Amino acid sequence: MERECRLMADMLRESKSTVVFTGAGMSTESGLPDFRSAQGLWRGHDPRRIASIDAFHSNKEDFYPFYRQRIKSMLEVQPNPGHHLLAKWERMGTVRGIITQNVDRLHRAAGSLQVVELHGNLHESRCSRCGAVHSSKLMLEQENCPLCEGYLRPAVVLFGETLDEGNLDSADALSRAADLFIVLGSSLEVSPANWYPRQAKLGGAKLIIINRDPTQLDHLADLVIHGSIGECLVRADEFLAIPGN
Ligand SMILES: [Zn+2]
Repeated sequence: MERECRLMADMLRESKSTVVFTGAGMSTESGLPDFRSAQGLWRGHDPRRIASIDAFHSNKEDFYPFYRQRIKSMLEVQPNPGHHLLAKWERMGTVRGIITQNVDRLHRAAGSLQVVELHGNLHESRCSRCGAVHSSKLMLEQENCPLCEGYLRPAVVLFGETLDEGNLDSADALSRAADLFIVLGSSLEVSPANWYPRQAKLGGAKLIIINRDPTQLDHLADLVIHGSIGECLVRADEFLAIPGN
């Protein structure tokens, strides 16, 4: 992995516009269970059926406990070294922006500013009637909006809902502007996740994929690392810090 991390540092040094795409693997290194492992924990039900717009309308007895559990898990975790380095690289002018599938806000907590949250965020809840935005902590206590009594829902994209057009456009623009595109902790199995790396490649960007397991797009990548995101980013940052290296 040493050689790969050094290569990554070289590619970062040459890049004028690095765009990073992060998935569940980025958050599991902070100790947050991913959706699939939550599936095993969740009363034997498929969380995709509970985390859906249909469940919000017609299965509130499962919907609210499921999201309360996820909100509580999220409130317990902190950004990991990988999150902090991405924020640092943004301040240095290397990282132009982050596109994330994660809803935990850990990139923002670490100080990253340009973050496109494709699936929304779990820190906020929204009233389904008046649209008012509240902290998601309120959902731990009650199901109804204090302003109008409408039902509260997490500010995430539920299964059965479409992604926000503005976010899709922002992610698209970022991908096109990349000369280096780095995927961290996503299996790239679903659309639009697997779209952005292709988009970047088509625009002439180099592609790095760091994921625990092989991904659908490994064959397109200039560098593939199957290992810990945090370890590799820390190592790459050490190489970056060596002058003339
Ligand atoms: Zn309301």
